[in-house]
Amino acid sequence: MRDRFGRTIDYMRVSVTDRCNLRCVYCMPAEGVASVPHEQILTFDEIARVCRVGAELGIRRIKLTGGEPLVRRGLPELVGMLKGITGIEQVTLTTNGTLLKEQINGLVSNGLDAVNISIDTLDPERYREITRGGSVEKALEGLDAAAAVPGLSVKVNCVPLKATGSNLKGTGSNGTEDEEYIRLALLAKEGKADVRFIEMMPIGLGKHFAGRGGDEILGILEKAYGKAEPCTGRLGNGPAEYVQFPGFGKRIGFISAVSHQFCGGCNRVRLTSEGYLKPCLQYESGTDLKTLLRGGAGDPEIRAAMEKAFYEKPAHHQFGVNGQFWENSQGKSCAEETLETKEMSRIGG
Ligand code: SAM
Ligand code: SF4
Repeated sequence: MRDRFGRTIDYMRVSVTDRCNLRCVYCMPAEGVASVPHEQILTFDEIARVCRVGAELGIRRIKLTGGEPLVRRGLPELVGMLKGITGIEQVTLTTNGTLLKEQINGLVSNGLDAVNISIDTLDPERYREITRGGSVEKALEGLDAAAAVPGLSVKVNCVPLKATGSNLKGTGSNGTEDEEYIRLALLAKEGKADVRFIEMMPIGLGKHFAGRGGDEILGILEKAYGKAEPCTGRLGNGPAEYVQFPGFGKRIGFISAVSHQFCGGCNRVRLTSEGYLKPCLQYESGTDLKTLLRGGAGDPEIRAAMEKAFYEKPAHHQFGVNGQFWENSQGKSCAEETLETKEMSRIGG
């Protein structure tokens, strides 16, 4: 369906848990994370019901996320349930990859179409620092397992982090931050995966970290690998802009929500693990579907609530750029919206 600004809404990011086996500095606090009680998390049947009604409203692609979706037991079963819904064309996953090797076969045999693996650095020490204890070797084993599946689309996502102003040492053991990104891009050169650089968004703990802009990273990579050619045509479901470097087997992508606002073409909504439907990442507004699901509401009532939330999707986010806020591209105000205060792992990134 279309929202009040004429944007087609066909993509839903579904968080299946707020829990995670890592603690990335910009996403979750080191300790004191109060997990949502299990009974407050939607069951697979409830998630499937929301997706079925969503499909009636025009949702075509679903991305499973979290928290870390692979810590939720039985995830392949959910993939199968969602793939069986009439109208759903694609079910994909975003994961830190550390539990992927063990689960990839089950996920793929249940119909998983694509996987995004978050790896911010290949340097083991810096990875441990950013994730507070994670093993990049485990994430890379997951990546290798996914890359070995014929026909599975695999992407690596990196959120470049400026060490300045944070508690991170910043350079890892093997050189400068710039070299980190040059090394990560090798995964695309070798043809293992598209590698995408995502700008840090001022959401949750991300507010306390400075990221690096897509244009800056492109400059660093062009110095190392030569001039990149922009890729044209539709290359995914989302806002990534892709380029091709000479001799690379896969592409490099940039998701630059802060420096290049793309809200005018946004096609997505989010379902939190607690069953709250959020039409925009940055605002609290949305609708509590869990209360409806558990209160005996019929499909028409759930559909009406979802339709209203889709329709009322805010015009745009207000991530600040150099102290300035983006101008409202549709001439509409988001001033009445309340800003989201929850962490990314709780919203579903
Ligand atoms: N655990 C999974 C993972 O790491 O891919 C899925 C959930 S995680 C919240 C999804 C993505 O959001 C990750 O790529 C993570 O780096 C990114 N992320 C978290 N906080 C962010 C922020 N403030 N700005 C931009 N990306 C962020
Ligand atoms: Fe966990 Fe993903 Fe957040 Fe890292 S970014 S703490 S892996 S949910």
